[in-house]
Amino acid sequence: MPDRIESESRKLLGRLRVALAESTAGQARLDRIVRLIAESMGCEVCSIYLFRDAETLELCATEGLRPSAVHKTRMRLGEGLVGRVARSRQVVNTADAPAERGFRFMPETGEEVFSSFCGVPVQRLGEVLGVLVVQSRARREFSPDEIYALEVVAMVLAEMTELGAFTGGDGDAMGQRHRNPVLVRGASGQEGAVAGRVWLHEPRVVVTNLISDDPERELARLRGAIDSLRQQVDEMLATSVTVDAEQVAVLEAYRMFANSRSWMRRMEDDIASGLSAEAAVEKEQSLAHSRMSQTADPYLRDRLHDLNDLSNRLLRILTGQGRDTGAQMPDDPVLVARNIGPGELLDYGKKLRGVVLEEGSVGSHAAIIARAWAIPLVVHAEGITAEALNGDPILVDGDQGVVHLRPDLNVRKAFDDKLAMMTRAQERYAGLRDLPATTLCGTTVSLHMNAGLIADLPSLPSSGAEGVGLFRTELQFLIRNQMPKRAELSALYARVMNAAQGRRVAFRTLDIGSDKVLSYMKPQDEPNPAMGWRAIRVGLDKPGVLRMQLQALIRAAAGRPLAVMFPFVAIPAEFRAARAEFDKAMERERILGHPLPERIEVGAMLETPSLAYADDSFWREVDFISIGGNDLKQFFFAADRENERVRRRYDMLDVSFLTFLEGIIRRAADSDTTLSYCGEDAGRPLEAMTLVALGFRMLSMRAPSIGPVKHLLRRVDLREVRAVIDAARGNGGSVRQALTEWLDGVE
Ligand code: PEP
Ligand code: MG
Repeated sequence: MPDRIESESRKLLGRLRVALAESTAGQARLDRIVRLIAESMGCEVCSIYLFRDAETLELCATEGLRPSAVHKTRMRLGEGLVGRVARSRQVVNTADAPAERGFRFMPETGEEVFSSFCGVPVQRLGEVLGVLVVQSRARREFSPDEIYALEVVAMVLAEMTELGAFTGGDGDAMGQRHRNPVLVRGASGQEGAVAGRVWLHEPRVVVTNLISDDPERELARLRGAIDSLRQQVDEMLATSVTVDAEQVAVLEAYRMFANSRSWMRRMEDDIASGLSAEAAVEKEQSLAHSRMSQTADPYLRDRLHDLNDLSNRLLRILTGQGRDTGAQMPDDPVLVARNIGPGELLDYGKKLRGVVLEEGSVGSHAAIIARAWAIPLVVHAEGITAEALNGDPILVDGDQGVVHLRPDLNVRKAFDDKLAMMTRAQERYAGLRDLPATTLCGTTVSLHMNAGLIADLPSLPSSGAEGVGLFRTELQFLIRNQMPKRAELSALYARVMNAAQGRRVAFRTLDIGSDKVLSYMKPQDEPNPAMGWRAIRVGLDKPGVLRMQLQALIRAAAGRPLAVMFPFVAIPAEFRAARAEFDKAMERERILGHPLPERIEVGAMLETPSLAYADDSFWREVDFISIGGNDLKQFFFAADRENERVRRRYDMLDVSFLTFLEGIIRRAADSDTTLSYCGEDAGRPLEAMTLVALGFRMLSMRAPSIGPVKHLLRRVDLREVRAVIDAARGNGGSVRQALTEWLDGVE
C-alpha cells in the first residue's frame, strides 16, 4: 500500500475516531462521518445506506445529496446500484453510473449531476448491514487504494452499527438493530413449542477500540496474540493426536492458517491504515466471509469455519474476553448456537428449554440428544447467531421449524394461546396416565417409550408407558470421547433396569455408522452411509464391541429378564450370527458363575424391506420383531430421512406402505411372533391409530407422545377406522385426508 494512501486512510480514521468519541446523538454522528469522508476523499458526495428491514435499504445520512431525501429515499435489495452492492456484497466502481446495468435514478436526491459512483458493502461477518457510497461530478473510476480506504471505513461503520453507535437522536438511524422482531425459518429437528430467553453458546466478542493512532503498538499486540494462538493450536494438536484422525486434520488446517503469511500481511496492512489489532482481525474475517460464504464447495466452507474459529480465538486473546462473559444464564434458557457437539450440549443438562442451531441437521448428535430430552429443536436457522443477543425473548416452534426472536405483542399472544392449549392437553393426558390404551371397540394396545439416556428414565413412571420398547444404546457411546468400558456399561444398563422397576426394556445393540459417527472410531468415507457399514454389519465384522455389550447386558440383568434386539438386520444369517454371539456370551457368563437372566428375548429390528420376506424359519426362531419405521420408510420409498428435500415427500399413510405393513403383520401372526413399531410415526396420533387399525398391538414412541396417542386411541372404534381406510384405499395414494376428515367428524 503506498505510504500516501496509508497516511490518508490513517488520517481519515483518526478524524473519525474523534467524531465517534464525541457525545453526539446517533444521527449527528452519522452526518459528521459522511462529511468527513467526502472531505477526505475529495468527493462531492458521501452517503450511508442502512437496512431498514431485511429487504429495504434507507438513505440514513448524506453529504452532497439533498438533505430532504434522508430517511425518505429507500430501495429494495438488489434495486439500483446501491441495492446491487448490498445483494452481491461486491464493490461497484464506475465512472458513468447512469450507463451502468441496473442504475435507478432517484430524483428526490438530486444525484443526476454526479457521474462517478463507488459503493462498498458495510458488512460484518458475512452479514451486510448497509452500503457506503461516494460520488463525484467528474467522470473517473476510484483507485484500488481509495477503495481500500473506503473498505476500512466501512468496516468501522459496521462495527459501530453493531455497537449501536448510531442509535438514538432524532433520526435514530439503524436504531432497530437487535431490537426489531425477527422471524427465522429453519427446519424442525424436534417437535414442541417453547417460550424462553436466548442463551448464546458462544457470545460475540465485543470490540470497542476500532481505530488506533499507534500502529506500532497495535502491530506488537497482533504479533503477541498470533504467537499465543499458535501455541494454543500446537497444544490442541499435542493433546488430540491419539484421539481422532479427523480432528487432527482440522487442527492441522488451523495450524496452517495460524502460520499463514498472507493472512498476517493483510492484517498488518489494516493496522498500518489506522485500524486497531482487533479491527484488523475482524476486517479480514468479514472479507473472507463475503468471498467464501457464497460458495457451495464444502472444502472452502470448512476452511471458512476454520478461519472463523481462529479469528474468534484471536479476538478473545486480544480483548481478554473469554467464553465466560459473566452473564447470568436466564432461568428459561433457549440455547442458540451455530452448531454444538453432543458433549457440550449434555454439559448444559436438562435445564435448557429449547435449542436453535444455525447449522446442525436433523440427524446430528445434538439433535439426537435434544430429541431424547424431548425439547424443541430448530436447525438451519440462518443468521440467528448474528441477530440474537443474550437474554432476548425467543419463541421456538419446533413443529413448524420457526423461531420468533424478540416477538411483537401479537405473535407473543398467539404463541401463548398455543402454549396454553398444549398445557391443557398435557393436563388431560396426565389424567389418562393410569388408564389403559383401550379403544371403543375393546382392543387394548401396549404403549412403550423410546429412550437412550439415563435422563430419560425418570419419565417412565409418569409417562404411562408400559416399558421401554427401544433403548438406543449408541447414545452412551456418542456422548463420550472414548470407548466406554464393559464395567461402565454394565453399571449403566443396571441403572436403566432399576429405573424401569421390572418393566420390560428392549435394549438395542449399538447402531453406529450412517448418521451416528463415534469420534473415537476411524471415520468411514462412504458414498451412502445410511446403506453402508452400519449397525449389525459393524457389530458382526468387528465383534469385540458387540460381545462386550452383550456381556454387560447379561451382567446388568443379574438374573432379571432381559430383552435384546439387533438393529438393521437385512437377512436371517445376520440375525443368526448375532444370536450366536449372544448364546456364546451367555455360556461365558455361566462358566464365570454369573447369574443368568431368568427369561431372555432376542429380537431383530425390521428396518429393510428384505427382512419382511425372510423365510418362515426365521420368523419362527426370532423372539420378537420391532419395526424401525424411520429406516424402513426411507428404504421402502428410497427417500433419505436426513435429506430435507425428500424426507417428507412420501407419506407413511400411503396405501403402498400400509399394504406392505399388513404383509408383515400377517407373517408375525402366522409365526406367533411379537411385533411392535418403534419409528417416530408411532408417536403421531393419526399414524398410531392407523397402525393399530392395521393390527399392531404394541407401539413404542417418545415419552411425551404417549398421552396424545392414548387419548386418541381411547376415542375411536377400530372397525370404523378400518372402514375409512378400506374405502380410501381404492383411490390409491395416501389415506391421510380421508382419515383426517373422518376424525374431524368424530371430534
Ligand atoms: C428407526 O429406524 O425407526 C429406529 C427406531 O431407529 P433409529 O431411528 O435409531 O435409526
Ligand atoms: Mg433405525
